[in-house]
Amino acid sequence: MFEHDFKDKVIVITGGSGVLCSRFCLELAKRGAKVCILSIDLEAQKSLEADIKKKGYEATSYYCNVLDKDNLESVHQEILKKYGKCDILINGAGGNSPKATTDDEFYEANDVAIDKKDFFSLDLKGIDFVFGLNFSGTLIPTQVFALDMMNREGCSILNISSMNAFTPLTKIPAYSAAKAAVANFTKWLATYFAKAGIRVNAIAPGFFVTTQNKDLLYNKDNTLTKRAQKIINNTPMGRFGNPDELVGAVLWLLDNNASSFVTGVVLPIDGGFSAYSGV
Ligand code: NAD
Repeated sequence: MFEHDFKDKVIVITGGSGVLCSRFCLELAKRGAKVCILSIDLEAQKSLEADIKKKGYEATSYYCNVLDKDNLESVHQEILKKYGKCDILINGAGGNSPKATTDDEFYEANDVAIDKKDFFSLDLKGIDFVFGLNFSGTLIPTQVFALDMMNREGCSILNISSMNAFTPLTKIPAYSAAKAAVANFTKWLATYFAKAGIRVNAIAPGFFVTTQNKDLLYNKDNTLTKRAQKIINNTPMGRFGNPDELVGAVLWLLDNNASSFVTGVVLPIDGGFSAYSGV
């Protein structure tokens, strides 16, 4: 019923050169969008831009740190000159850091004498980094690009939360809390911008194998790690997701013809992980 036509829409995608968002860049470019790829990975963003152009679609990459408002403002000016106002913003930059990760899932009473990365020794800089990248890295680009969208039809913002926003995953307290903050902030923004005509939604992906989490999921001999096996056991559909399986939901949430009355949702795409209690 819906063709998901994004012809001439200016779509800004932070973290656009990453594993998940590069899929969205290509799919949106295919449907006529002028795609602006923002990231701090120059090589990956240039190669994605070239790939999209080779296929006959429109994209431009911009080096841009989502935590640097001046950098965002100057990229915004470049985009205004080249393509005009931003219609759609995808806040895709994000991730975790080993500095904000505990070694163990549970704290045992005698762990106090053992030298390991537990909750008490977590590096505050690591925690600030993860929280900042995911939360402020969503907030600051929204401050810069949402002004373009005021009272123009069909504008929207898509944030990327995670299924760990609903129930935190063990070992990654800062990343879980930051993604919960992104989910909460999505609802706040949806309310705040509703009368200005901007819809704001989020996807909450489950487990997709990417460069970011590959080492956590697979052993060197390609067998599943203990943690990965636990994930599979707790995913009713019994497998990891494929990044292509996010695309339909992203197109639907961004397409104002298809989801014009949808705002403030945080949509799990996780094979049932967040629905399952384990029993
Ligand atoms: P990825 O590491 O492949 O991509 C992250 C992108 O963000 C890269 O392009 C990187 O250059 C960019 N980036 C990092 N720091 C930046 C900064 N300061 N400024 C601008 N760009 C910056 O990650 P991914 O797996 O594709 O994840 C994309 C989003 O989805 C992230 O928000 C991640 O937290 C979220 N997510 C991923 C999964 C998963 O299974 N992969 C699950 C749930 C949520």
